[in-house]
Amino acid sequence: MPSTRAAPSSLPASLTAARVGRIRRGLLAWGAEHSSDFPWRDARNPYWALVAAVCSQQTQMSRVFPLWERWTAAFPTLADAAAADTATVLRVWAGAGYPKRALALRETAQRCIAQHGGGLPREYEALLALPGVGPFTAAIVQCFGFGDDGAAIDTNVVRVLGRLVYGDVQPALETPAAAIRVAAERLLPPGDAGAWNAAMMDYGAQVCVPKPKCDVCALASMCEARSKFAAGALATPVRAQSKYDGSNRMWRGRIMRALRGRDDGRVRTSTLLRDLAHDEGEAATVRAMLRALCDEGFAWQRAGWSGLGSEDVGAAESGTR
Ligand code: SF4
Repeated sequence: MPSTRAAPSSLPASLTAARVGRIRRGLLAWGAEHSSDFPWRDARNPYWALVAAVCSQQTQMSRVFPLWERWTAAFPTLADAAAADTATVLRVWAGAGYPKRALALRETAQRCIAQHGGGLPREYEALLALPGVGPFTAAIVQCFGFGDDGAAIDTNVVRVLGRLVYGDVQPALETPAAAIRVAAERLLPPGDAGAWNAAMMDYGAQVCVPKPKCDVCALASMCEARSKFAAGALATPVRAQSKYDGSNRMWRGRIMRALRGRDDGRVRTSTLLRDLAHDEGEAATVRAMLRALCDEGFAWQRAGWSGLGSEDVGAAESGTR
């Protein structure tokens, strides 16, 4: 079941500066040898990075590259994507699932043309304000597109960090998203975010898989979960969840708890997303549930901020039922 553990305000004491350095060196060395050589990772092309991130949302990696190739061949630039008609967009996206992503990608391109001088914005908050762009996609655009620092967190990264830093066997269910975020930002090597994020994602896809390959793991001597797996721990399948886990009710409750916990009654919406969502799929759910809570009068959103109740009236307590 999902974690009931409070998000830590600080990292484990065992994550010393020396250990951070060893983890960085170990993972970057592994990545230099094993990371996948996708064209968007080295191109410093924010549009390519955006398309790659959107294509990879809720999609197996083996299907991402063909889809990315098809999209960038049909729409080589942001302007081409912005000018595309709906039928063409959906034809290019055909078979990839979740076609709302394709329309959101076109809308993002249109906004960039209209509001950002024809290019993607570089600032994190501005990226997050674009349709279909969550914390993961924003970080991918930052690191691969602009060469800036930004920690990209997908389901593979959640698994690696939850085990490595916190010793959780099944991090998607056990490790709070805020804890994962803290660890990701601490470990990110300044100035090397592209290579780091690529290595983290690939490590979770190739080595620290659901049934981890600890015997060949380059990070085993630094991993908090290694002894548990050596003693026979098994990650239970994520699908063995109760009806409440992952339900709208669960997400509404989490959002309301997060809003209630703020002393000044408001929080940056981007912080809310980062604290609650493990990945892009969950970020989309948090956005949708927050919108619904606003429509029902339980919460408000304005200019990148969110809060409880109506903005004028202040906190209201009735939204969790
Ligand atoms: S030792 Fe095992 S659990 Fe820990 S990071 Fe390596 S593969 Fe994952």
